[in-house]
Amino acid sequence: MSRQEIVAKKGLGQNFLNDMTMIRRIAAHLELDAEDVVLEIGCGTGALTQLLAPKTRQFIGVELDRNLFQKLEDHYSGPSVLFLNQDILKLELAELMRELQLFPAKLKVVGNLPYYISSPIIEWLGQQAGRIESATIMLQAEVAQRLLASPGTKEFGVLTLITGYHFACTKLMDVRPGAFRPMPKVHSTVLRLEPKTLRLLDLDQESVFFSFIKQAFAQRRKTLWNCLRAAVDKERLEAILNQLGRPPNCRAEVLSLEDFVALFKQLRTG
Ligand code: SAM
Repeated sequence: MSRQEIVAKKGLGQNFLNDMTMIRRIAAHLELDAEDVVLEIGCGTGALTQLLAPKTRQFIGVELDRNLFQKLEDHYSGPSVLFLNQDILKLELAELMRELQLFPAKLKVVGNLPYYISSPIIEWLGQQAGRIESATIMLQAEVAQRLLASPGTKEFGVLTLITGYHFACTKLMDVRPGAFRPMPKVHSTVLRLEPKTLRLLDLDQESVFFSFIKQAFAQRRKTLWNCLRAAVDKERLEAILNQLGRPPNCRAEVLSLEDFVALFKQLRTG
């Protein structure tokens, strides 16, 4: 589709990929075959869509902008291509997959994400992890660093832990601002997220666990005990931290995902 006539909407995070070499490289990372089912988040002007849609068993493209959605339908429609004009965060994926009779297929998700909602989209992807084979997503480089961060660094935090709970994350490549129109002020990174096969907690405990993590990081500069004091007995917390080999006055950011899971389980068993 012609990008000339499109005025990008900043409020919707519209920075369109404009570098064909980059577009081809990202598409190649999906390693598509004719049996694949692809979900693209934010198709925009169709930079990735044009390469991916014709190669799949079923392509689902979600685009919130009504004008772009209309153009995508005009240019890239096909018998196995479905565009949805809606907010990705409100997509009932399981229901859609049932309607399209896609089970037990798992989706390859792809998206040059709208950066203003990249964290909620990552959390949404976590909720869909059981239906996903892989997610190849472009993020603001700083956000990508948070997903890849190690304990004890300033980038390590809630987003690292929630993503790491569901997925193994691998960096695929960096993308410079010049590859987009309009040019963003930030650098970008493409990551691959692959769902973990082992579930660390029962499904019904996951949202409580994530609230627990958020509470632990509520005031990053304070000790873990200070953040959790309303809910946890001090001696009990210190005894568990001791078992984990952590100092009693440590901050949340030094605990790994495995530490947090162990701490959460032990606190719940009393
Ligand atoms: N994939 C295109 C590309 O690479 O050129 C466009 C990427 S652009 C960074 C993000 C796209 O997501 C925009 O087209 C924007 O309209 C769309 N978008 C923004 N918020 C959305 C939402 N909540 N749900 C679905 N799409 C959204």
